[in-house]
Amino acid sequence: MNDDPEVLKESNAPTPSMASEYFGTTSDGDSIDLFTLENDQITVKIMTYGATVTSILTPDKTGKMGDVVLGFDRLAPYLQEHPYFGSTIGRYGNRIAKGKFILEGKTYQLATNNGNNHLHGGVKGFNRVVWQAEVITEGDQEKLEMAYTSADGEEGYPGNLKVRVQFYLDSGALHIDYFATTDKTTPINLTNHSYFNLTEGANNILEHKVYLDASRYTPVDEELIPLGQLAEVSNTPFDFLAQPMTIGARIKDVPGGYDHNYVLNGWDGNLNLVATISEPTSGRVLEVLTTEPGMQFYTGNFLDGIPGKQGRAYEQHYGLCLETQHYPDSPNQIEFPSCLLVPGEEYRHTTIYRFSLDTSG
Ligand code: BGC
Repeated sequence: MNDDPEVLKESNAPTPSMASEYFGTTSDGDSIDLFTLENDQITVKIMTYGATVTSILTPDKTGKMGDVVLGFDRLAPYLQEHPYFGSTIGRYGNRIAKGKFILEGKTYQLATNNGNNHLHGGVKGFNRVVWQAEVITEGDQEKLEMAYTSADGEEGYPGNLKVRVQFYLDSGALHIDYFATTDKTTPINLTNHSYFNLTEGANNILEHKVYLDASRYTPVDEELIPLGQLAEVSNTPFDFLAQPMTIGARIKDVPGGYDHNYVLNGWDGNLNLVATISEPTSGRVLEVLTTEPGMQFYTGNFLDGIPGKQGRAYEQHYGLCLETQHYPDSPNQIEFPSCLLVPGEEYRHTTIYRFSLDTSG
């Protein structure tokens, strides 16, 4: 990485390059590869275990590159229980009440792994499987494609589901495109569970400033299952639309911290800019664009000192997740946008995490 500003200015088109290295072996004997996607503005590492984003390096306002996502330095802790650091989540991200739903007259019982409920795909979600990686070229764009086939009945879900997730860089942005097809109707809700911290984990995220283009959110019960209605954010601590607010400004008024699905404004299936996060000391700005109708805004409430990269302890609120998705419990909530994929159709979802700098602060 050349950080001479003169040289940066002259190198207009990013030169993509995708290297891979051995990252470790699972207890089942699967060898895990770690891929590096790199251009002159951003470096992203993604491994085949869980199609997991393990690091994202972006410059701060002084030009120094730093890692803005939580995770581990080695494979071993990723193989243990951990709070989904950087994971690709599926078959259904977020919660399904009691792990149960009725589809085409049949009741399905999924694995329950979060109290009474199903969370992030169950006991062995897509975050705990080994994906097949391939570097593909489309036009002059190199992409890392991860593929996984989830068998009929896996974690209780109907249908053989073929999933592909493509990761690629464009200027300072990480693009993630999700595709899936099935041979039986199934709920599907794929997302990425990166925990961002624009101070490189030096501080908690309470001073990060947030703008969310959402006038409503889905209120939840004590088990974080949506109650069904969509509530207005205005005049509540959930309002990040009227003006950007720091997370810490009102978090004490939200019991447990933010862990809520926002109903994104203007959803029409096309890419929409839905969130802007900024952090003044680093100057970093993160924008989120998505085709999805909702986004879980989670402020790392359950982090409790888990040792992460370079021995750093990730305490409560040391990371924030921006999980673009369908609303939680959609299989049971008839009023919510449908999360069903039927045979013959293709699931598609694009989310972009775009990094830039604001040097005015
Ligand atoms: C959920 C949290 C959960 C976390 C797991 C988030 O997507 O909304 O409730 O604790 O994932 O780390």
